[in-house]
Amino acid sequence: MRIKGFQGTSLLDFPGRVSSLVFTGGCNLSCGFCHNPGLVLDPDQYPDYPLDELLDELKQRRSFIDGVVVSGGEPTLATGLAGFLEQIKELGLQVKLDSNGLLPRVLTGLFERRLVDYLALDFKTSPARYAELHDRPVDTAALLASCRLAIEQAPEYEFRTTCVPGLVTEDELHVMGEVIKGARRWVLQQFVPREQMLGGAPRQAYPAAEFTRLRQVAES
Ligand code: SF4
Repeated sequence: MRIKGFQGTSLLDFPGRVSSLVFTGGCNLSCGFCHNPGLVLDPDQYPDYPLDELLDELKQRRSFIDGVVVSGGEPTLATGLAGFLEQIKELGLQVKLDSNGLLPRVLTGLFERRLVDYLALDFKTSPARYAELHDRPVDTAALLASCRLAIEQAPEYEFRTTCVPGLVTEDELHVMGEVIKGARRWVLQQFVPREQMLGGAPRQAYPAAEFTRLRQVAES
């Protein structure tokens, strides 16, 4: 398991819990609005965080963190993910996994072994528009399978959508809402343009009033 980044304490990333954050490298998408282009395109430019050191850090933090968020890149691509999550669980910590949902067989294996307490599944746009998120074909059947898995098998979960102008419109939200019908939690977040993105993304976010309207669409 190759870890490319570590943040000791976060109050924001694991709902209701204090957590540490761990980042893996590489991704099976190349979204134009990605905020971690280095981690996605060339993860080897970052040194590996020594695993023993990381586990020691987590051990020392056990008295004030509740869990660990494993994020990326796309963590389900990482070799040794299940073993790593097992080590986190052995420390008595909960696991939140951030994923784009394109590898449902990995998620199934993790759920079977009860290694994930909370799944945050990035649902980026309507399935028909996923082709715009990569330079190779995207397996949207896999995405749909992961959406069902989240709803039916994750102990806790959320769907997350970043409202990228043009990519997430009212039309897309209607389609997405049908796909995840019955979901307990769907979080829409504002798109934040940054200097460093993979490319092709708009340079501006939706105006606040439009973002509020889109949220209402998702809630309806
Ligand atoms: S936004 Fe997420 S899914 Fe898209 S390229 Fe970046 S890490 Fe991968």
